[in-house]
Amino acid sequence: VSPRELPRTQVRRLPEKQVEDRAALDALLDQALVGHLAVVTDGWPYVVPVGMARDGDRVLCHGSTGARLFRGLAAGEPTCLTVTIVDGLVLARSQFESSMNYRSAMILGRCTELEFRAKAAALAVLTEHLMPGRGADSRGPSKKELAQTSVLELPIEEWSLKVSAHADPDDQDEDLDLPYWAGVLPLHHVWGEPRPSSDLRGGPPVPDYVATWPTGRT
Ligand SMILES: Cc1cc2nc3c(=O)[nH]c(=O)nc-3n(C[C@H](O)[C@H](O)[C@H](O)COP(=O)(O)OP(=O)(O)OC[C@H]3O[C@@H](n4cnc5c(N)ncnc54)[C@H](O)[C@@H]3O)c2cc1C
Repeated sequence: VSPRELPRTQVRRLPEKQVEDRAALDALLDQALVGHLAVVTDGWPYVVPVGMARDGDRVLCHGSTGARLFRGLAAGEPTCLTVTIVDGLVLARSQFESSMNYRSAMILGRCTELEFRAKAAALAVLTEHLMPGRGADSRGPSKKELAQTSVLELPIEEWSLKVSAHADPDDQDEDLDLPYWAGVLPLHHVWGEPRPSSDLRGGPPVPDYVATWPTGRT
């Protein structure tokens, strides 16, 4: 069923910005490092940022077994994962028409908490997604660390994607003669220079996979 036909995932404002292409959703999830997961505790909503990784038709995230978010979602509370990337500022002549270029996704569902082997495998996926190359070049989790870690999987079933990609601002005709500059300011996401740890022993050089970390992640 198309996301647009499901009442809960139908974008109502500016519906022309709704994108139903699953590949576009995957591209957004794969570029993003962080998503925001919602949980309602005692009738109050909390929206919690977490590192996350898409793995096929599921999104994985991990955290402390003691954290409110993970306790609530492991118990099967409904949630919404929101992932947003800002691609630029749209500077219209009027403040009303000024906006942002963006891609954002919302995934509705319930999480499952992973056990033992599935948990260890999912943590490896998370590491590889968030820090590509690092899985083979760092210490894996101990049994104790695994026991302290909760890993949640959210199925990508009920989702929506909204994309705003202005080539130009949408100024009204009567504003076009105003003396203000107008246009789009793209936002690029780039890494800075790697800064070795002050307690680094033996002076290993910056690994190639760090020096060539994929740009554009955000
Ligand atoms: C970076 C950024 C900045 C924004 N700034 C503003 C702002 O300043 N003011 C403003 O009014 N709106 C802003 N929006 C848009 C906002 O996120 C909603 O899309 C907007 O509130 C319209 O919601 P609605 O009433 O159409 O849908 P709702 O009734 O709120 O939602 C219905 C369904 O549509 C889908 N949906 C709605 N919005 C999104 C979305 N953004 N991404 C994915 N799925 C979505 C969901 O599945 C949701 O369940 C911004 C969006 C982004 C990504």
